[in-house]
Amino acid sequence: MIELKTPGEIDVMRRAGQIVAGLLAHLAAFVRPGIRTQQLDEAAGAYLRRAGAASAFLHYRGFPATICVSVNEEVVHGIPGERKLREGDLVSIDAGAVVDGLFADAAVTVPVGAVSPQARRLSEATKRALEDGIAAASAGRRLSDISHAVQRVVERAGFGVVRDFVGHGIGRALHEEPPIPNFGEPNMGPRLRPGMVLAIEPMVTLGSYDVHILSDGWTVVTKDRSLAAHFEHTVAVTEHGPEVLTRTDEVTGHQ
Ligand code: MG
Repeated sequence: MIELKTPGEIDVMRRAGQIVAGLLAHLAAFVRPGIRTQQLDEAAGAYLRRAGAASAFLHYRGFPATICVSVNEEVVHGIPGERKLREGDLVSIDAGAVVDGLFADAAVTVPVGAVSPQARRLSEATKRALEDGIAAASAGRRLSDISHAVQRVVERAGFGVVRDFVGHGIGRALHEEPPIPNFGEPNMGPRLRPGMVLAIEPMVTLGSYDVHILSDGWTVVTKDRSLAAHFEHTVAVTEHGPEVLTRTDEVTGHQ
């Protein structure tokens, strides 16, 4: 059962989304060689406190940090810690905020200094895949149109789509129905309707898409330890097309 949000609920989710967008821009600007992932987490905590929002991730099923920071072969759910970022790393930052009981969730992948051409292409393809997925989130289309749009961009670029983790509905909980795979045939699944809010989040790998979870119980890495990238937006299906709630500036295409 996919819960439809009222315009009032979407207003609140838009506020949460704007906080997440501002937070990710703030953290992306803070990324540089030599900083510890823990420092990103501390900066995120301070930002959310100033904004009057709570982290959607802290204590979620026991997750111990404010944000997820996943470096290189880490795909998602990396736990910030002592690790220092190095020139050439590819770092994915995933953040969620709660405002008045409503959630928003987004992620960006950021280069640390100069990265390899492959890393740049991987990151760009993942971002493009997200944009195509968002464009497919139109009322009247079907859920797997999003999945198919994402997969097409990724595979045309020669990369792999992670199967084991997927996007999700979002609202009064971080993870709601429906699951949103980043792969699949088009024109299947529920029809998209105004009021649905979806977290679309391609997770893309340079090599095989097989992943596994490290012994910390959280960090998802590629099995072959190839690089991964992750972008995510929270998107409301409206009568006027998809509205990205976690984007601050539609015109410049800012993350
Ligand atoms: Mg998510």
